Amino acid sequence: MGSRRSRTGVTVAGIAALERSVRGTVARDPKSLARVVSDASPLSAPALAVVAPVDAEDVLAIVAWARKARVGLVPRGGGTSLAGGAVPVGPTVVVDLAAWNTVVEVNASEGWARVGPGLVNLDFQRALQPLGMFFPPNPGSWTRSTLGGNLGTNASGPRSFRYGPTRTWIRALEIVLGNGRRVRLGTRALKRSAGPDLLSFVVGSEGTLGIVTEITARLAPLPQVREAFVVPVPPTARLGAVASRLSQAAGTGLSAVEYVDGTCASAMAERRRSLHLTGEALLLLEIEADDARQAARRRARVLEMLSSEGVSSPATEVAPEALWTLRGEAGTLLDATIGPRVREDVAVPLGRLDELVEALRRIASEEGMGYHLYGHLGEGSLHPNFAVDPTGERGNRVRARVVRTALALGGTVSAEHGIGLLKVPFLVEELGPGAVDWLVAVKRWCDPDGILNPGKVYPER
Ligand SMILES: Cc1cc2nc3c(=O)[nH]c(=O)nc-3n(C[C@H](O)[C@H](O)[C@H](O)COP(=O)(O)OP(=O)(O)OC[C@H]3O[C@@H](n4cnc5c(N)ncnc54)[C@H](O)[C@@H]3O)c2cc1C
Repeated sequence: MGSRRSRTGVTVAGIAALERSVRGTVARDPKSLARVVSDASPLSAPALAVVAPVDAEDVLAIVAWARKARVGLVPRGGGTSLAGGAVPVGPTVVVDLAAWNTVVEVNASEGWARVGPGLVNLDFQRALQPLGMFFPPNPGSWTRSTLGGNLGTNASGPRSFRYGPTRTWIRALEIVLGNGRRVRLGTRALKRSAGPDLLSFVVGSEGTLGIVTEITARLAPLPQVREAFVVPVPPTARLGAVASRLSQAAGTGLSAVEYVDGTCASAMAERRRSLHLTGEALLLLEIEADDARQAARRRARVLEMLSSEGVSSPATEVAPEALWTLRGEAGTLLDATIGPRVREDVAVPLGRLDELVEALRRIASEEGMGYHLYGHLGEGSLHPNFAVDPTGERGNRVRARVVRTALALGGTVSAEHGIGLLKVPFLVEELGPGAVDWLVAVKRWCDPDGILNPGKVYPER
């Protein structure tokens, strides 16, 4: 038995040694393995096993085992990465953190909570609600994605318009690095100037430096009033001008400025008829206020600003939580409408947004393919969708055209989904060789054996 090797060269005895090293479970049955071959990206590959650690000691043992066995480790939360960040590459064991989902401690008066990395975002929001607090990042995947994954990708959500991405909302974390060292970063203090910010470096590192075992999140007080409403957008409106106008206005309490085109809006209307959405392109907006009168004033002001940009249709009020969950499903609904597609994630400065929108239309027309758009308009962060096989030659060409257009407009190749596997070739185009060499040097120190999330983020150098 000791010498029997799997297809990848890892001995069965090697996996048995992993089983003996941890208190958590190690699964190799077909159902468990099938669950982790892919994430929400179009990519997939098999894993050797799935290990579910129960504490940081287990994670230390897993890392020590992987270094010795020369096996990759893929940290996995909800598996909703759209960039292939949680897909196995090479001989790999998936480290499943989903069951590590407790709220360990909340200090509402100091505005922080200590949580396990597997806690699902919406479960966290619901636990905080009775305490009058919330965690502002609310990605469209909030019903399934975890705090560890949100941290791993520096996720944003509709409310990032007012509150910023996940990076802003992490006070401290504990991590087991790929070199086997256990490190605590950040403090509970409100401010800190103790050297360069390593904590911020870990946020967005997509499981390539270490496995995060505990998160201290920063919390915000729940506003007294939160109102969401939708406004139809005529085809003549300039989306960039609308976004700039809304983002520059002070005192509106606007916490979200989202956009969905007519196809997405129709699919959303069909999915949740009770929300009475129309099938036209829509702005989805949210306002926060201290009381109902202030909310009404703020809403009137926003509608006035929209009117000056040629968006003057009546607004329909909807329940915020239901709206953001439905908006999060926009991509999944398009799966049913247009099938496999390049699903992009770029951002540009607001002043260049209209140029981006125009360029995206041009790319679709020149490539002769269907095209649909939604996104976090108020942040200049768009998700254009092109009806083409996302892993084929044409799909790769369209992806390259989109990300290079965003770069040429002073933007980024990934607004929020991360680099994962899909965007590796473009990282150097955004950062330049000097910064990429710096990143690679840090990666090598944190993970000298290259066991953590192999193939992701860093180009081969
Ligand atoms: C329907 C849908 C809507 C979405 N909407 C949004 C959106 O509005 N905004 C947005 O930003 N993203 C969005 N996403 C993308 C995705 O949900 C986010 O990237 C999310 O943060 C991933 O969380 P997860 O728990 O699923 O992580 P996973 O997919 O499991 O992992 C994501 C990355 O984080 C790493 N990771 C996970 N846990 C840990 C850990 N404990 N330690 C170290 N690394 C870890 C993984 O290795 C991987 O690289 C959406 C995805 C879907 C499918």
